[in-house]
Amino acid sequence: MQVLKFGGSSVANAANISKCIAIISKAAEQDTTIVVISALGGITDSLLHCATAASAGDERFSESLKNIEQRHLDTVRELIPVTGQSSILSMVKKTCNELEDIFKGIFLLRELSARTTDCVLSFGELLSSRIVSAGLAAREVPNIWKDSRDLIVSDSRFGHALVDFPATQKKIGAYFQNPISPLCIVPGFIASDALGITTTLGRGGSDYTAAIYGNALNVKRIEIWTDVSGMMTADPRLVSNARAIPDISYQEAMELSHFGAKVLYPPTLQPVMNKGIPVWIKNTFMPDDPGTLIEKVSSKTGSSIRGISSIHRIALLSLEGSGMIGIPGFSKRLFEALSRQQINVILITQASSEHSICVGVDSSQAALAKVSIDDMFGPEIHAGTVMPLIVEEELAIVALVGDNMKSHPGISGKLFGVLGRNGINVRAIAQGSSERNISAVISTKDVKKAVNVLHEEFFEATYKQLNLFITGTGNVGRRLLQQLEQQRHFLLDQLRLQVRVTGLANSRRMLIQEEGIDLSRWSDELEKGDPMQLRDFIKIIHSKNLRNSVFVDVTANSEVAMGYEQLLLKSISVVACNKIASSSPYSYYRRLKDLSKEFNAAYYFETNVGAGLPVIGTLNDLLRSGDKIRKIEAVLSGTLNFVFNHYDGKTKFAQIVKQAQEEGYTEPDPRLDLSGTDVMRKIMILAREAGHAVEMEDISNQVFLPASCMEGSVEDFYLAMEKEEAHFKQLFEAASAAGKKLKFVAGYENGKAAVGLQHVGPAHDFFHLYGKDNIVLFYTDRYPEQPLVIKGAGAGAEVTASGVFADIIRAANA
Ligand code: ADP
Ligand code: ASP
Ligand code: MG
Repeated sequence: MQVLKFGGSSVANAANISKCIAIISKAAEQDTTIVVISALGGITDSLLHCATAASAGDERFSESLKNIEQRHLDTVRELIPVTGQSSILSMVKKTCNELEDIFKGIFLLRELSARTTDCVLSFGELLSSRIVSAGLAAREVPNIWKDSRDLIVSDSRFGHALVDFPATQKKIGAYFQNPISPLCIVPGFIASDALGITTTLGRGGSDYTAAIYGNALNVKRIEIWTDVSGMMTADPRLVSNARAIPDISYQEAMELSHFGAKVLYPPTLQPVMNKGIPVWIKNTFMPDDPGTLIEKVSSKTGSSIRGISSIHRIALLSLEGSGMIGIPGFSKRLFEALSRQQINVILITQASSEHSICVGVDSSQAALAKVSIDDMFGPEIHAGTVMPLIVEEELAIVALVGDNMKSHPGISGKLFGVLGRNGINVRAIAQGSSERNISAVISTKDVKKAVNVLHEEFFEATYKQLNLFITGTGNVGRRLLQQLEQQRHFLLDQLRLQVRVTGLANSRRMLIQEEGIDLSRWSDELEKGDPMQLRDFIKIIHSKNLRNSVFVDVTANSEVAMGYEQLLLKSISVVACNKIASSSPYSYYRRLKDLSKEFNAAYYFETNVGAGLPVIGTLNDLLRSGDKIRKIEAVLSGTLNFVFNHYDGKTKFAQIVKQAQEEGYTEPDPRLDLSGTDVMRKIMILAREAGHAVEMEDISNQVFLPASCMEGSVEDFYLAMEKEEAHFKQLFEAASAAGKKLKFVAGYENGKAAVGLQHVGPAHDFFHLYGKDNIVLFYTDRYPEQPLVIKGAGAGAEVTASGVFADIIRAANA
């Protein structure tokens, strides 16, 4: 014997029911079969809605009822050939008339008891199961319909009736001893009490009906046919990468369903687990998919975690007070207060200090719990030894479930690590003594993100999604986007990183696409975006709350730089090629570094010094390994190096600067380079990274640019330089007369930094520095005489973009 159960979506309409019929006819050829049917998808909700409207005196209930009737009539007309329709159509009409009478009664009395609600809801399953039965008959599959209320006996807790198993067993046993037909169709969800009054087994309870029949008849197997291909590693509506679990133990499946996996009504497995009846979860719409087998022991292979589930609408109740310490009986009284009101406790935690107890309950019961608990502890609250109950709402539980967790240390560490890195605050935790479940209470707004990052960590360990929010589509931004597109497959295959540009903005427009912007046409897409407002852009990043988010600043804009604080505070990493933040007043630089540490978010700006050269990274590696920086000497301006390498006293100085700008080696305002300000910023950043609280005013700068060049616009600047050509020529000639070259050098020693133009002779490391190259010499305890040298192109969009790219990857792995 076997039991098959079909859920609401499986019987939602005639087309779906036809699929069920195909499955049922095939199964019935194999064995005696009982088929449990749910109401047509959505009908239970509609009935409830209708009844509530009627009880509130809302006449529209009758229109809603018409829709319910119509849906059933349509289903029959589509499912069954005209010649066979009449008796089933009149059954639907007659049943709906009865229902109308009941609604009228509710409407007149303005009263809806739990008992009447159950009576109303039972019509959903009564109608659907009869339609399926008739549909089978019409396809010449002989079957009999039987009302579950005649066979399943429950108590009178309407809405959530408890089954009287011995009485039920007797009735089912007797009925099926000599079955009239080897195929019997029954309604799910409903039962009747000792007086024969209709009850229901709780929302989603048709699964339970299947288990009740299965248990009573000790069947060979139970199949739950639904709209997904099994019990999945996470709720597929939350996690698109969730996948079906091939096999799972009763305990694990129970734990997952208790913690929110709606695919199985939580009490379902109780009646069948002792008998070891295997339960299959199968997909009506993909019947050939293997589905999930729930049995005594699950396979020991694969992940130590079997699945992740979540329950929304949790309230956390905390009872605190010095009066609780060391005094026995407090928890007993707390739970007594809850049980008096029949409040179900979902999670309990108590700190070892016993200073507080924390329990998680369904939000809908929080107010009742508060009254009951405050009443129970009235005397202590009055005496001030216990505080009135603290209720926190808008919380949720995420739970990791797996039998094999106990043999795998470090799972909770991973859980907290992942949540922490993604800025998800954990309010409370609980781990059952069976070590089959670790639960964390978090804010409801973080659930989707939490379940996704946990899924990524435990089930897709080798595959991580990175969400980039890029501001700036100038020279560097464009190259970065190009490089990201070009390397997409490499990152996926080699680093298991799926990098998405989820947000893109420039000074005019901003665009957010959660599924990732198509990088081959970002420019057109961005044009269609909204007008750029940095505040809104950051607000969206916050509200999207996506995992592994990285904000990438490839602008030179100070407003953007001032936004980092808001991002780091929410654990969003920041990668900047913009130097403004790290060269702003020391206090802001420090604050960003501290936030980065506190909120587990990377803050990288390698390209601030030497473009793509690994300068800051190397400096940090030296420091981390215990080395000390004694002195830094460097040529840090690709622009100035380019200019002085090309200037020969013949071509005009202004023209060389123009060329540098046109080739993309200068800041948008080249005066920042020519005045030495940019080099000052860079040496300051290195000094800061080396641990010194240096400010711009602390750095001496021997400016070589005449003051007249610093006034007015960029165009004025070029004109002024032309006028000062003699000055530049004189600088050049003084150096070349001595056989030396001009280099704009930055130095740092003993906490002091200086920049300025120097004459460099052929023996010096800086002499052979060509093009737009940079060079940095680190003199350290470990490199005292021969410095550690980093040299190479220090400007240019391509190398800068690649440095930003490297920072992004580092942030992903931080
Ligand atoms: P039925 O109407 O067939 O009883 P339900 O809607 O009650 O179906 O349950 C199936 C739904 O449960 C799926 O469509 C899915 O959205 C949801 N679900 C939540 N968590 C899980 C999970 N871990 N595995 C599978 N489905 C899940
Ligand atoms: N129809 C009922 C409900 O929607 C029972 C079920 O579908 O399992 O809750
Ligand atoms: Mg269900």
